[in-house]
Amino acid sequence: MDEAIVVGGGIGGMAVAAALGLAGWRVRVVESAPEFREVGAGLAVTANGLRAAQVIGAGEAIERNGYRLRPVGTRRWDGEWLLRAPDDGGTFMLGIHRQRLHDAVTGVQDAELVTGARVTAVQAGTPGGERARVFWESADGVHEAQADLVVGADGLRSVTRSILFGNALKYSGFSCWRAAAPDRTLDDRYAMVWGPRAEFGALRISPDEVYWYGYVAMPSGQVIADEVGAVREYFADWAPDVRRMIEATGEVIRHDVWVLERPLPRYTDGRVVLIGDAAHPMLPTLGQGANSALEDAVSLGLLVRPGQLRAGLAKYEEARYRRTQKLVNRSQWMGRTGSHLGRGQWLRNAMLRLTPPRAALRNAARILDWTPPGSFGAEAIDRR
Ligand SMILES: Cc1cc2nc3c(=O)[nH]c(=O)nc-3n(C[C@H](O)[C@H](O)[C@H](O)COP(=O)(O)OP(=O)(O)OC[C@H]3O[C@@H](n4cnc5c(N)ncnc54)[C@H](O)[C@@H]3O)c2cc1C
Repeated sequence: MDEAIVVGGGIGGMAVAAALGLAGWRVRVVESAPEFREVGAGLAVTANGLRAAQVIGAGEAIERNGYRLRPVGTRRWDGEWLLRAPDDGGTFMLGIHRQRLHDAVTGVQDAELVTGARVTAVQAGTPGGERARVFWESADGVHEAQADLVVGADGLRSVTRSILFGNALKYSGFSCWRAAAPDRTLDDRYAMVWGPRAEFGALRISPDEVYWYGYVAMPSGQVIADEVGAVREYFADWAPDVRRMIEATGEVIRHDVWVLERPLPRYTDGRVVLIGDAAHPMLPTLGQGANSALEDAVSLGLLVRPGQLRAGLAKYEEARYRRTQKLVNRSQWMGRTGSHLGRGQWLRNAMLRLTPPRAALRNAARILDWTPPGSFGAEAIDRR
């Protein structure tokens, strides 16, 4: 049986383990953390991400553990609506705790899971020739394994990417507070809130929890002794509902947001392929990082079948490169015209007030229009 090694067991890594398993690969996931856990409070699974998850059988668990939301537009920092769509705007998203999303994809894979194993080197091999090699360190020493396919799903600071293509990252200029807070007041509508060089968003992830984020301009590497105090102070003059959400929060995390200095020339090299943040980290302004990682994972399983590596990887490249670079560019555009704007805000706001809301939402939803390239055969579905 052809063997695949997946480097990294985040949302992308676990989803690709499931997809490759369905395609007939024997899969091993090598994860550096001591257990499979997700950092961060919540996120939104959009129609494209859900469609991908359905292909591997995780859709139902995501719908069960998520909260169905209606995106309804954009507000200004003081609460005034800039763009207000009717409540039946037509699109939907599922607010979900990250760990529950991770559990949903973990629940449908059947791979060998190795934790506490930090991959330090990868040799790419050649399709049809030499196998790839993966080296990792764990508590009991250094390990080496060969594989017919290696998937780099090791996130923003991917060692796999760094070995194959170099790893120059640049700071976005923004840092992001995130938290899950107890709440029963917010309903199922989701609206972004834009202020000068800042964005706030709150979305329900269960009947009694809300996930919120505060994305703000800040130099990199700031050490803040009291993060809760800092986020309260930052948003102190924003709309009352924003302040109330932050007030109800006991614990927040904050991460600086980094992106690639330059796009990669491609996502494959020899027998190695990159997915998710390892391949195309993007700004969170579009909410598509995890959704596109799910798309990548499922596409890989559908296109790269055992014994057809060279042709499969070429198809993957064709299916994923343009699509994901478009998402990266769109996330930058959203930043430039949205939360990254400083003085130009009044003009943007004036234009937004004149935009027909339904048309704006329909336009935004176009990027969610994605269908998986084919489907797994009946045999794979039976095994599932
Ligand atoms: C503030 C913020 C908000 C966001 N909101 C959204 C949202 O609403 N919707 C959305 O779709 N996306 C969102 N994203 C993006 C999303 O979080 C990421 O794109 C997604 O988690 C990427 O998944 P991944 O599996 O590719 O990488 P990761 O989740 O980073 O997983 C990588 C895994 O690899 C492991 N690893 C790393 N190095 C090694 C190594 N050397 N050896 C072995 N294992 C290794 C790590 O421990 C980790 O488990 C947001 C991101 C940020 C920063």
